[in-house]
Amino acid sequence: MPHAQGIVQKAFCSKCNCNHSLPRTPATDAAKELMAHMDHALFADYLYGEARGKMFGVLVCRTREGTFTTLKAFSGQYNGQWKLEGWVPPLFDVQDFRNLHDPVEKQIKALGREAAKTASDITRRDSILLQRKQLSRQLMKDIHALYTLHNFKGEQCSLLDQFPQERGIPTGTGDCCAPKLLNYAAMHDLQPLGLAEFFWGTTNKSSSRHEGEFYLACEDKCGPILGFLLCGLESQ
Ligand SMILES: [Zn+2]
Ligand SMILES: [Zn+2]
Repeated sequence: MPHAQGIVQKAFCSKCNCNHSLPRTPATDAAKELMAHMDHALFADYLYGEARGKMFGVLVCRTREGTFTTLKAFSGQYNGQWKLEGWVPPLFDVQDFRNLHDPVEKQIKALGREAAKTASDITRRDSILLQRKQLSRQLMKDIHALYTLHNFKGEQCSLLDQFPQERGIPTGTGDCCAPKLLNYAAMHDLQPLGLAEFFWGTTNKSSSRHEGEFYLACEDKCGPILGFLLCGLESQ
């Protein structure tokens, strides 16, 4: 049994045809320190309320000058915000996202209201609902095209490059902590030493996540992109 490294995040890289990896241990102290500050007013109401809990992550990195720095991330949006001071940003330009998303989202909502009003006319209602479905599917595609992934070889790719065409991209791909953290580190010439992701807030509905516990990156969304994101990292 290997013991010194503890839990290691592994992900298959199709270019190198091997697993790239990053240990958790070098980041656990930083994660615990963040947990100790989670009852800050910013988080408390939100994470124990409607939103329930959330995944958070820290990435301990070495700078080019040889000093250490800790990046932190929340998964998805935080209370409707993609960007918060002190936290790494998402994998897309937030203004581009707004410009694309907001008008279409309005249209989708309007179609939903229209469908509700025409409940008695089934044919018309179904055609409105179909229109709405197509609109939101196209919106997801356009949103996914906004994401740019950067790795430690200085390469870039889009989400669309990492998922087989026929499989589709799960909603929320690229919004987890690991991709946000690794992408930011790669863009800022920081060398990751340890990655720790933990859950905070009210236990999720399926009871698969508990406050204060560490988890590896998810398989469905992060699995297909982490290999690319970790590519070029010096092996530990
Ligand atoms: Zn994930
Ligand atoms: Zn690779």
